[in-house]
Amino acid sequence: MTRRTTSVAFAAALLATLVATAAPLAAQQPAEAWWRHVQVLSNDSLKGRDTGSPGHEVAARYVAEQFRLAGLSPAGTDGWYQPVRFIEVAMAKEGVALALREGDVWSPLVVGRDMRVTARLATDNVEAPLVFAGYGVSLPQAGMDDLRGLDLRGKIVVYVNANPKGLSAPLLAHGTRTRWATMRQAGAVGVIAVGAGGAWVDNENTRLGSSVSLADTSLDDLGGQRINSVLNPSLMPRLLAGSGIVWDSVVAVAARGEPLPTAALSVSLRATLPTVRRDIVSPNVVGILPGTDRTLRDEVVVLSAHLDHVGTFKGPALTGDSIFNGTMDNATGAATLMETAKAVAARGGNKRTLLFVAVTAEEKGLLGSRYFAARPSITRGTIIANLNTDMFLPLFPLKGLFVYGVDESDLADDVGGVLTARGLQVLPDPEPQEMRFVRSDQYSFIRRGVPSLAFKLGYTTGTAEEKTFTGWVRERYHKMSDDLQQPIDFEAAAGFNALYADLALGVANRKSRPAWRPNSFFATPVIVP
Ligand SMILES: [Zn+2]
Repeated sequence: MTRRTTSVAFAAALLATLVATAAPLAAQQPAEAWWRHVQVLSNDSLKGRDTGSPGHEVAARYVAEQFRLAGLSPAGTDGWYQPVRFIEVAMAKEGVALALREGDVWSPLVVGRDMRVTARLATDNVEAPLVFAGYGVSLPQAGMDDLRGLDLRGKIVVYVNANPKGLSAPLLAHGTRTRWATMRQAGAVGVIAVGAGGAWVDNENTRLGSSVSLADTSLDDLGGQRINSVLNPSLMPRLLAGSGIVWDSVVAVAARGEPLPTAALSVSLRATLPTVRRDIVSPNVVGILPGTDRTLRDEVVVLSAHLDHVGTFKGPALTGDSIFNGTMDNATGAATLMETAKAVAARGGNKRTLLFVAVTAEEKGLLGSRYFAARPSITRGTIIANLNTDMFLPLFPLKGLFVYGVDESDLADDVGGVLTARGLQVLPDPEPQEMRFVRSDQYSFIRRGVPSLAFKLGYTTGTAEEKTFTGWVRERYHKMSDDLQQPIDFEAAAGFNALYADLALGVANRKSRPAWRPNSFFATPVIVP
């Protein structure tokens, strides 16, 4: 594929052509209209729908037009759109320098060989003592607190990037996601993560990373992080010298997930970190189907799917293809959102308000949804539930669903009812360690206290479906092969779309407002920051 620069105006003109030329399935094929959306969004000319790119703008216009055709009303802050401001920060090509102080001796560290650095909003020249904080996880409510007793003020925190055992999957995920927030509250100025297994990889693409953050710094999860780095574990004996902690035994204990020791360290890190910044504006697309009930219409059910993907491959060209089309991730989910809008608007009768949100910047760290959940574009009402669709993987027959978060709230009853009515069921998640409940946009709502669910086609362990699912994740997830050339199960996609629409209406019309299970960790909203 050629690497042509596409202007927004040109791309908009292109959209009409795209819609006209998307190859139709034979008439009456299940999910025909859904597949047409997938084809448009996956088209090479959209160049992987990167946040802020012309290709994502084209996709956003397409979604807005489909929402309009479905009969929704615009509910952004600017028509159909809620423009979100971001800042991309990259490390400068020249001038990065790192050094370690052991006793009175400073010695340089080599970027790449010894340490990788990712630029964040607060990245700055920094010199600070180090402290070792085990897993770096602070969940006192679950009896685990690696930060207890440590003085983190003005320090860089070294932590082992591994999972302590004994926590439920949602709790573990929450604990690792809020690591920095709790460190920052305790006064830390940066982090050094270190792996406890696996080989150290050093190549041009990993040495100096960039990141995208919300320009609204009050919503920045990684705010105040003056250095974000990963250390080659072979240096750990030097960092731990004199602390009484032995790195080899840390590795062995971490492999078992058992509690790790913590200690202030006698070494300091000095980092010179020049950065380059770029402003990005990219929209969430928002359409509304107002509720029909005078009271319940102020309760808003958000249906969401991310529209962005990861753009194009920036490294040296290895094959003819450089475009991450993001067909499963998440053209399929965005297409389901558009088809659901059409289906529920046609049926109507939703007592509560349904809000359709195609969010941006999921791939940058759930940022578009975080902004939306914190600063909803609607002028009235309260968000009371979120049903999110990301990469639902219609690659085999629909026999049941994985429903992430099903144990956490009474939305379980709604999804259970819809599945049972179709002779389907909720299947147990065989990979709880993947922590999918907090790995897509539903988490932005969950952390603000909103009961939420996310979905994928389910399989039973030991079946051909399992092979297909795990094989897809291994071979196509975030790869250029996540494109239109995949064996889609159209009947499964049609079935999923139908039950998602049923579920949306079910939640919009249920008697009481959805509630967390009393024993759910998420029953207490944890808004961090
Ligand atoms: Zn993705």
